[in-house]
Amino acid sequence: MVDVQLRARGVVDQRVLGAMLGVPRHEFVPENYRAEAYEDHPLPIGEGQTISQPYIVAVMLQALELTAGNKVLEVGSGSGYVTALLAELGAQVFAVERHSVLAARSRETLAALGYHDVRVFLGDGTLGLATWAPFDAIIVSAAAPDLPAVLLSQLRDGGRMIIPVGLADSQQLQLIKIQNGQPRVSVRELCRFVPLVPGVGDSRE
Ligand code: SAH
Repeated sequence: MVDVQLRARGVVDQRVLGAMLGVPRHEFVPENYRAEAYEDHPLPIGEGQTISQPYIVAVMLQALELTAGNKVLEVGSGSGYVTALLAELGAQVFAVERHSVLAARSRETLAALGYHDVRVFLGDGTLGLATWAPFDAIIVSAAAPDLPAVLLSQLRDGGRMIIPVGLADSQQLQLIKIQNGQPRVSVRELCRFVPLVPGVGDSRE
């Protein structure tokens, strides 16, 4: 996975590559999909949601230029796979997931693998986590129709956010850096994520 899908396609950040070598992706995938855990595509994780394609995860993490100790908000933590990667990168992780089944399962998986310092909150990630703001970085793993102003407001100056923005069936990753209080946006890879849905709930949308 790391050589063929990441290095060969230009992911160069050694820390991101190291984290992706270290985290056992199959542990975050339902039993019946484990054989495909390291393949080049997203996989179902229940509740109509998916664990993201490894390449897109790597691109998002690389873009955030995280350093150890960074305070990171993760919106849409799903299986907990990206949560574990953030922990491997030395971040202080605050994850939010709107589906209680996924939040509970990811907490179990993360604890079983020894990731005890991550916090997974059940809640509406579109609201961010005002109590813990400001963040050095925000990673949003679900697609938004446009940039959520609330999340931008929870970044510190110098902070970065990566988020898929666009239509339901096709988006582009946007990297936002706050410089002197102003958001600077750069548009990156095309991608396809499940939608960012306001509110908390367990039904399939
Ligand atoms: N990084 C996760 C991606 C899961 S898919 C992984 O690799 O497993 C995106 C997740 O975003 C889904 O679990 C979905 O339930 C969640 N989500 C969608 N809207 C949300 C919201 N408003 N608040 C929190 N989580 C949300």
